[in-house]
Amino acid sequence: MDLYEYQGKELFRRYGIPVSDGRLAASPAEVRQAATELGGTVVVKAQVLTGGRGKVGGIKLANNPVEAEERAREILGLDIRGHIVQKLWIEKASHIAKEYYLSLAFDRGAKRPLYMFTTQGGVDIEEIAASSPEALVRLHVDPLEGFHPWQARRLVYAAGVAEPGEQKQIVAIVGKLYEAFVGCDAMLCEINPLIVTPEGEVKALDSKFTVDDNALFRHADIAAMRDLAAADPLEALAREKGVTYVKLDGEVGVLGNGAGLTMSTVDVVTFAGGRPANFCDLGGGGDAQGVVDALEVITRDPQVDAIFFNIFGGITRCDEVARGILQALAQMTIDYPIVVRLDGTNADEGRRILAEAAPAGLHVEPTMLAAARKAVALVGARSARAG
Ligand code: GDP
Ligand code: MN
Repeated sequence: MDLYEYQGKELFRRYGIPVSDGRLAASPAEVRQAATELGGTVVVKAQVLTGGRGKVGGIKLANNPVEAEERAREILGLDIRGHIVQKLWIEKASHIAKEYYLSLAFDRGAKRPLYMFTTQGGVDIEEIAASSPEALVRLHVDPLEGFHPWQARRLVYAAGVAEPGEQKQIVAIVGKLYEAFVGCDAMLCEINPLIVTPEGEVKALDSKFTVDDNALFRHADIAAMRDLAAADPLEALAREKGVTYVKLDGEVGVLGNGAGLTMSTVDVVTFAGGRPANFCDLGGGGDAQGVVDALEVITRDPQVDAIFFNIFGGITRCDEVARGILQALAQMTIDYPIVVRLDGTNADEGRRILAEAAPAGLHVEPTMLAAARKAVALVGARSARAG
């Protein structure tokens, strides 16, 4: 789960990493109020889950509350690489003497957290990594040993920070970043830029904070930071139901069990000349309630014209899935065809259950390809009737 800058900064603040005082606002009037409370020059910052906001006009300075309100009008509603700005973070503007970069990320290859630090911050770190790799200092932390203060000193010296005051502050921030990273089960904590003010004060001017989804159950406060308004409502419903759901552009709703089969089902629908409207993965267990939940999510997608239900029973039992389908059909009205292919564990039993109940609009096909063709053909039939 990615956090907004202001949320990441809130976590930084909790762990003692210095950040500027600020306010969240959603309208020009609120921005004016926030700027009045903060006083002096402020910076108005678009809150979107993507970087590089500065380059596209998402970050602007304002000398007084009236100017702040004007900047807010310019930034609110802005489309930053597909993210519409709905919230702004207003903070006391900082004077910047230097811009550094500091991050701690989970390095999957090394199975360890990795620090990266450079005095050439502010810009795209990928650029620095490509143009002057020697300027980017990298250091792994052994998760069993934990962080040691010498590691922070090594980062700072290797990057060439000469000022003792800066060294001391950065060493402290490096240590606190490890505490924040481990304490929040983060996958990434990035500060770009980490600034030095003309007075020699070091602080985090930006934050990029990603928390491991699988650890959210032990961080109720962070889980509550999820912005449900910004998410696709169907994806939110799917998450609530514990179903994996991805929206696509076509007409055939795809339901499978397991990521591999679900992806293949998307391919085979395309191969049969159709276009998937979405795909939904029941996962490995796939009990009757799981089927009901998945169908509930899929049928809320108005683009769906036919459903292709593709199950290969391993742990999942096809009879259980068949009962789930019947249960779902009893609970909701689905006015378009559902094509089912069942194979694997208890497939015969599953097909028998469906054949006996024989609900209207339900078609059982023996193979994946035949089922895909049938689903695609049924979309065509419906469109033809409509036309
Ligand atoms: P990003 O473009 O999405 O990475 O957003 P940042 O928060 O990193 O801001 C981009 C740039 O805006 C920074 O690198 C700074 O140069 C500038 N900036 C942000 N906040 C301030 C501030 O308080 N004062 C000044 N002078 N510049 C700022
Ligand atoms: Mn930044």
